[in-house]
Parts: sequence; C-alpha cells; structure tokens
Amino acid sequence: MQREGKLLVISGPSGAGKSSLINEILKEIDNVYFSISTTTRAKRVGEIDGIDYFFVTKEEFEEDIKKGLFLEWAKVHGNYYGTSLKPVFKAIEEGKLVIFDIDVQGNSSIRERFKDITTSVFITTPSIKELENRLKNRGTDSKEIIQKRLQNAIEEIKRVDEYDFVLINDDFQKAKEYLLAVAKSAKLKLSKNEIDSFIKEWKSTSNKKV
Ligand code: 5GP
Repeated sequence: MQREGKLLVISGPSGAGKSSLINEILKEIDNVYFSISTTTRAKRVGEIDGIDYFFVTKEEFEEDIKKGLFLEWAKVHGNYYGTSLKPVFKAIEEGKLVIFDIDVQGNSSIRERFKDITTSVFITTPSIKELENRLKNRGTDSKEIIQKRLQNAIEEIKRVDEYDFVLINDDFQKAKEYLLAVAKSAKLKLSKNEIDSFIKEWKSTSNKKV
C-alpha cells in the first residue's frame, strides 16, 4: 500500500518545553518534516531566521495573507504566526510526517481540513506556577510578556479537550518517550484513501468471488 503523509500538531503554552521535545524526536523519526512558521514577533536571543521561524514584518505578513500563502495563520500574544502552505503540501505528497508547533487556533484549522490524517498533542507543565517559574528562569521574555503568556496559557488550557493526547512535561526523559510514541502512532494512522485502497487490495487477493 502506498503510504501518504500524516500530520502531528503539537500545541501548549510557551515555556512548557515543546521546542526541546520536538528537537529530540526530530532526531529519532525518519521521513519527517518540521513546519517552520512565519512570525512577526521579535527574534529571541539564540533564535535563527529560517530555522526557528521566518521572521518578517507585519506588512510582509499581511501581504502574504493577501496572496493566500498560508495554510493557517493566527494572532497570538499580539503577533502574527502562520504556516506556509506549499512546503506542507509537498511533504504530505512525499509521504512524510509533518510536525507543527502551533497554537489552539492553528490546531482547529488543521484538524478541520485534514481530519483523517491528523494527530494532536497538547504539552503542558503540571501547573501554572511551574510554567511561571520556567518562563522566568528561561530569561528570554520581559515581565509583561511573561504575564501575557501566562494569561494566554489559561485560555489555551480550556481547549485541551480538542486534542487526542495531553502530555504533562514534568520529567523530560519520560516526556520525550511519550512524544516519540505519539509521533510513531501518528505515522501509523491510515487516511481514508489508504483504508479504501487497503480494503480493495485485501479483497482482490481472494480466490473466490465474495
Ligand atoms: P512563541 O512566541 O513562544 O515561539 O510561540 C507562541 C505561540 O504561537 C505558541 O503557542 C506556538 O505554538 C504558536 N505558533 C507558532 N507558530 C504558529 C503558526 O504558524 N500558527 C499558529 N496558529 N500558531 C503558531
């Protein structure tokens, strides 16, 4: 059976450890493509344009919206974030597992459009207090931005029921194994087309007419 690409949406509050976990599993899964988003937010220390995000101006982003270049886009913490359409479709065609690090709005757009090939997981800290500590220790954001992110996290957690899995990241090694298992199962999911062609193939091997 010809395998099609599958999608794995990863969401969760900034500071929950999503990026570190994603970087770990990218090393261990074959035939995978990480969707690099475009954003208008300021680059953090250590971030690289074209690797972490494509950093653009508000005007450039709005131009790309007009041109229909995004598969989905959303405003998060007052900045634009969007997923480019072309590379995602190319990766799906190539049978890859496409991994997205996007927010709850993005998850709902992707799920609506690609329901049968999408798996989703929400990654969070055990508590809001722990999230606050991690954001403070990370030292990359100002007090105001941390407050905005905490507020946003409270809103996002209300939509956790829209996800297939919830991963509480309190032990990095365990969380990595969990996410790896989810990513492997996301690859095993069968699309509607794959199920139809499998049933056809399977029946065609019968000697008798059924
Ligand atoms: P951060 O600024 O911490 O990198 O990301 C802030 C939030 O934006 C995170 O929840 C992240 O998952 C989300 N995000 C990043 N890229 C995209 C995107 O392309 N689309 C959507 N909808 N959300 C995104």
